[in-house]
Amino acid sequence: MYKLSKSISRLRIKCKNETHGCAATFPLSEEYCHSTSCLYEPVPCPHQGCGAQVLRRDLEAHVQRCEHWRQLCPMGCGTVLSHQTQAQHNCYRQLRQEYEAQRQTHRAIAAALQRKMRKMQSTMAHMKRQIGLICESLEVMDNQEEEAENAGESSSSSSGSSSSSSSS
Ligand SMILES: [Zn+2]
Ligand SMILES: [Zn+2]
Ligand SMILES: [Zn+2]
Repeated sequence: MYKLSKSISRLRIKCKNETHGCAATFPLSEEYCHSTSCLYEPVPCPHQGCGAQVLRRDLEAHVQRCEHWRQLCPMGCGTVLSHQTQAQHNCYRQLRQEYEAQRQTHRAIAAALQRKMRKMQSTMAHMKRQIGLICESLEVMDNQEEEAENAGESSSSSSGSSSSSSSS
């Protein structure tokens, strides 16, 4: 039994990445050890969001041109750089652009607030007019009641007709 296991461990096997181009053969016992260093082993790209599996020997080249490559600006401006933005990145211009963008959003907020305020003002003016009309009609009603109290039943009908003609 011992002999068998020993002979199995001595058995030379081909690398499982033979199809990718690895020609290495090694004892079964070294399979794991080889796979951690095999240049033809597919390994995931370390950049977040990439998800690409590339052969270990191609990893360095892939990482350098991976579109998911991200790095904070080495000058410390706080911008996250990608391959596309890295070449033309300029801290001063970047900060200025951010400042301008912020100013524009502030302007937009101020304009929206102003619009809201104008709307509220017009609503308030409208309400004021409505209240004025209500007060007027209440006064008219008061007057009518007073007139009705002061005058007899026959004259109250005439006062009603006169008020309707004045309102129209
Ligand atoms: Zn291999
Ligand atoms: Zn990648
Ligand atoms: Zn920068």
